[in-house]
Amino acid sequence: MSECLIKIEHLRKEYPNVTPLKDVCVEINKGDIISVIGPSGTGKSTLLRCLNQLEEPTSGKVFIDDEEITDIKCDLSKVRQKMGMVFQSFNLFANHNIIENIMIGPVTLLKMPKEEAHELAIELLKKVGLAEKAQNFPNELSGGQKQRVAIARAIAMKPEILLFDEPTSALDPTMVSEVLAVIKNLAKEGMTMMIVTHEMRFARDVSTRIFYMDEGGIYEDGTPEQIFENPSKERTRAFIQRLKTYSTEIRTKDFDFIGTMAEIENFCKDNLMSEKTTKNIQLVFEELVMTNIIPQMNNDFTLNAEIEYSEVSGKATMKLEYDGAEFDPFKDGDDISMMIVKKLTAENSFEYVGANRILLTFA
Ligand code: ADP
Ligand code: MG
Repeated sequence: MSECLIKIEHLRKEYPNVTPLKDVCVEINKGDIISVIGPSGTGKSTLLRCLNQLEEPTSGKVFIDDEEITDIKCDLSKVRQKMGMVFQSFNLFANHNIIENIMIGPVTLLKMPKEEAHELAIELLKKVGLAEKAQNFPNELSGGQKQRVAIARAIAMKPEILLFDEPTSALDPTMVSEVLAVIKNLAKEGMTMMIVTHEMRFARDVSTRIFYMDEGGIYEDGTPEQIFENPSKERTRAFIQRLKTYSTEIRTKDFDFIGTMAEIENFCKDNLMSEKTTKNIQLVFEELVMTNIIPQMNNDFTLNAEIEYSEVSGKATMKLEYDGAEFDPFKDGDDISMMIVKKLTAENSFEYVGANRILLTFA
């Protein structure tokens, strides 16, 4: 059984205009490596900041090792020692050299003898590959090197968990991998970590667990396989696949067909879809809607068309849903027209579930 390190109970954080965390309940176990992903503004930073009490929660409780840290009597400096934090902007002390940056915490807060802190700092600098920079000042280091120092400084406090808030977002692309490599090594050593990141590849390879944040909390919590390959919720899937959608509702036989075709073309172009796929989507839409479905309709009907494009897989899908009696164009439609539809799509299906539903995918 994994041992619970942090327990979050009904955590809520309100700001005057927005409530990023509505009611978060979750347990973090020793050894968990959690990547926190999700659209911007969904409370990822707020969650981290409420955890280590940089931000005071509006309500709810946070426990670490069964001690309630949201209790006003709790010693915050002790809490922050248990939870190391690495920020996007490295926050090193500019007027101290690298080794002093790492020693300050252990000496002043942990009351570690200077020689011991020095030894520890050297050891940690070796671990992050920067032993030769011990005497340099922060402004003599690259962004990636500074962030590696910031990580060493956080570990020097011997925290029980390390919290990272987008540790590579402020770096040049060339420096991202050196920082991720250091975090990967910590993961191998069993360090408990929670990492807010946009690096999906990294999140997938390194984490034991993913929190997808949306709608005021942890919207989906699962293993990387679950979240990346088989998310159980729609918003998670849309985020992971970077889905773009176009939808339109048609209610009359003489709807603006030319305008709709132009909208579809713009949607495809905006999302950099190939000319061939764009043409295929338009043609399939025309054949199905104009040649087959509309002629079957009475004057009063609703047809919803949705086109979805995944930037990750490069695949497009089209969904058509229309009311009225069951009408399967693949069986009862215009033969030549439906031959074109089949030829231009990779997969197609029809089902009748109170309404008619057609699902098509384009290669
Ligand atoms: P994320 O890290 O997921 O991008 P944040 O946790 O930074 O999101 O922010 C969540 C929401 O809370 C945003 O709408 C943001 O504008 C708002 N917010 C964050 N910090 C403050 C603050 N100090 N005062 C008011 N609103 C804030
Ligand atoms: Mg943030």
